[in-house]
Amino acid sequence: MKAARFDYLRPDDLAGATVALAEGRARPMAGGQSLGPMLNLRLARPGRVVDVSHLPELRRVEARPDGILYGAALTHAEFEDGAVPDPTPGFLARVAHGIAYRAVRNRGTIGGSLAHADPAADWPTALAALGARVHLAGPAETRELAVDEFILGAFETALAPGEIITGVFVPRRSAQARFGYRKSCRKVGEFAEAMCAVLVDRESDVQRLAIGATEARQLVFPAAHDVLRSPARVDDILRDAGLAADPAAFRLRREVVRQAIAALASESQPEGQPA
Ligand SMILES: Cc1cc2nc3c(=O)[nH]c(=O)nc-3n(C[C@H](O)[C@H](O)[C@H](O)COP(=O)(O)OP(=O)(O)OC[C@H]3O[C@@H](n4cnc5c(N)ncnc54)[C@H](O)[C@@H]3O)c2cc1C
Repeated sequence: MKAARFDYLRPDDLAGATVALAEGRARPMAGGQSLGPMLNLRLARPGRVVDVSHLPELRRVEARPDGILYGAALTHAEFEDGAVPDPTPGFLARVAHGIAYRAVRNRGTIGGSLAHADPAADWPTALAALGARVHLAGPAETRELAVDEFILGAFETALAPGEIITGVFVPRRSAQARFGYRKSCRKVGEFAEAMCAVLVDRESDVQRLAIGATEARQLVFPAAHDVLRSPARVDDILRDAGLAADPAAFRLRREVVRQAIAALASESQPEGQPA
C-alpha cells in the first residue's frame, strides 16, 4: 500500500515549523522510521508532513550545570557513537546501541521515539528512569514535562495540537551512578516484550526504576529504595499494576526486572566520567 497524498514542507527554523504545523492536518516528521510505515499503511493520513529533522533548534546540544539539553532530532546513532556529550557515565550510548539495528538508528531520533510513545520502545523507559524532561514548543507557549508526565499511555502523549518536542533534558549523574538496563526481545532488533531500567546514584540518593513494554505507559517508581532493597517486592509491584494475569508474561517481566536490578551490582559499568 502507498501513502495517501500529502504536502511535504521543510521549514528553515522552529518558528517556520510552528507556523507550518498550525494548519492543514499537519504532522511533524523526524527520522520517519515509524511515521513512514504509518503513512504507507494509511494508519496516519495527514494533509501535510512537516520535516523537522534538520531544524537547528532540534539539532543542538546545550550543556548546563545540572545536565544536558539534547535537540529532539538527534539520532540514536549520534548517542550510540558518542557524537554528543553524555551527562551520565555512558548510559545513553548503551541504550541507543540496543535500539533496533543500525539503519534504524541512523535515522530514528530521540524526540520521534518519545512522541511515538510505543510502550516497547527503549528511550521512553530509559529516559523515565534517568529522570529526563521533555521540552515542548507550541504556537503560543513553551513548556516542559517529566517523561512520565509526557507519556500518557500506549502511543498517547501530552502533545497538544501544533506542539512539537524541541528537546530532552537529561540530568547529570555522578561517576559512581549505576544503571541496570535489561530487555527481552524474541529476535535481535525487534521491539521488547519486557523491559526494565534502574538508576541508582548514591551521591544524590536517587533510586529510580521504570518498567516498559507493558502495553500501556511505563511504570515509574521515582523512589524505588524498597524494591531495590528487597527484589521479592518485584512480584508485588507487577501484581499491583495488573501485570500478573498472564503467567508467562508475568514470569518474563519478573525475570527482566530482577536482572536489571542485579546488573547494578554485578555488571561492570561503562567507563568514563560524565561530560
Ligand atoms: C524495523 C524497526 C525496528 C525498530 N525497533 C526499535 C526498538 O527496538 N526500540 C526502539 O526504541 N525503537 C525501535 N524502532 C523505532 C525507531 O527507533 C524510532 O525511534 C521511531 O521510529 C521514531 O523516531 P523517528 O525519528 O523515526 O520518528 P518519526 O517516524 O519521524 O515520527 C514518529 C512519530 O513522532 C512524531 N514526531 C517526530 N518528531 C517529533 C517531534 N520533534 N515533536 C513532535 N512529534 C514528533 C511524528 O509525527 C510521528 O507521530 C524501530 C523502528 C523500525 C522501523
